[in-house]
Amino acid sequence: MHQESVNDFMDHVVAKSASQYEFHQAVREVAESVWPIFERHPEYLDMRIPHRMVEAERIIIFRVAWVDDAGTVQVNRGIRVEMNSVIGPYKGGLRFHPSVNLGILKFLAFEQVLKNSLTTLPLGGGKGGSDFDPKGRSDGEIMRFSQAFMNELFRHIGTHTDIPAGDIGVGGREIGYLFGQYKKLANEFSGILTGKGVNWGGSLIRPESTGYGVVYFAEEMLRAHSESIYGKKVLISGSGNVAQYAAENANRLGGTPVTLSDSGGFIYDPDGIDAEKLAWVMELKNVRRGRISEYAEQFGVAYYAGQKPWAVEDADVALPCATQNELNVDDAKDLVANNVRVVAEGANMPTEPDAVRLLMDNGVLFGPGKAANAGGVATSGLEMAQNAGFAVWTREEVDAKLLGIMTKIHRNCRETAAQYATPDNYVVGANIAGFIKVADAMLDQGVV
Ligand code: NDP
Repeated sequence: MHQESVNDFMDHVVAKSASQYEFHQAVREVAESVWPIFERHPEYLDMRIPHRMVEAERIIIFRVAWVDDAGTVQVNRGIRVEMNSVIGPYKGGLRFHPSVNLGILKFLAFEQVLKNSLTTLPLGGGKGGSDFDPKGRSDGEIMRFSQAFMNELFRHIGTHTDIPAGDIGVGGREIGYLFGQYKKLANEFSGILTGKGVNWGGSLIRPESTGYGVVYFAEEMLRAHSESIYGKKVLISGSGNVAQYAAENANRLGGTPVTLSDSGGFIYDPDGIDAEKLAWVMELKNVRRGRISEYAEQFGVAYYAGQKPWAVEDADVALPCATQNELNVDDAKDLVANNVRVVAEGANMPTEPDAVRLLMDNGVLFGPGKAANAGGVATSGLEMAQNAGFAVWTREEVDAKLLGIMTKIHRNCRETAAQYATPDNYVVGANIAGFIKVADAMLDQGVV
């Protein structure tokens, strides 16, 4: 049985999920990392653990019908991928974006299983969302869509079954509407979603946690080489939740964030995006829902339409925080040519496989998303713990726990990588450490 190669396995995966390219990409990367351990641990292949891990425990696909402001009936597709519950209830975000399809949600759910395993918390993995495009929609339309989405989802989730959260296009506003509808349908007030408002069960620092966490992770990567983010120039893509708080934490640790982007292009502010400018960005993006190009007009800096920030010179740290496959091999060449020291992924799988290889071959420290952006789901776990215990922790307490978790994930990745490759190979470290915990639990629980 354990003669099977990575390529044989991938043939099997591709045959069963044709045209789900992002899913194939995510699975191949993990398979290439973990296959060598099957020499020492044939039981994983004998018990078909990889084959079971790529098959979702359950996928729910449903119609979301709603009426827009013009009175037109709109129909979207809702999906929840309940991937793996072997170490805890399904946990993972909801994405509202026109690109959403089953392959993208399966890649995200698969990554989530391993990420949640790394957090040290008892969380299984899932992901969901809809091809609904929130751009240009009124608050009323967002509310009616969110309610229609929850009208079906509510019967499949539960505090011991599946606890969704936010992702692209799903922030505090959407979580509010989703929670309100769940509460009405289920007739119970429970911690069914994370990322809730702080007045109704949310955790302090949850909005900040993914962005803060990726910067804590980058700081740990630098500290392992007796360096620090202090005084370093930081490139950030995206200008949503993760990007905003990555910029905030880079500032807190003494770094200088100089770029932000959206799907229209990027701005470059060589003086740094300080706390005051960042507050302006948050108002722009979270309240007015405007475009990042307006930053250039407001602060008199350059805007590069249709471009990504990876060619900006003299940078030290790059944090892709927008979406999957936003950093390709040419971008990686630019980062190498500019002597960038660290790339840490705030987004999920933003770096294409060839680009990852090129960065690592050239000595750039590379922190994969399943480790570097795990602070978000970890803090969701802390929100669940507070809800379960009727507790409210202070900002300082949650931030300290987040830092502790990111430090532990970093150490776990380095130590695992050291056993199988080199300590700086965070891809191998994260994939093997995440895999072993899930795989061992699957062996314990039998063939189900
Ligand atoms: P937001 O919706 O708040 O922000 C997304 C940002 O990325 C926006 O600036 C958006 O620009 C940009 N973007 C989205 N799609 C594209 C695209 N195709 N091309 C260029 N830019 C794009 O989402 P989040 O900040 O929450 O999520 C960002 C990433 O982080 C995602 O990969 C997500 O899975 C990951 N992540 C999020 C976590 C969280 O807690 N929120 C946790 C862990 C990972 P525009 O407005 O123009 O579309």
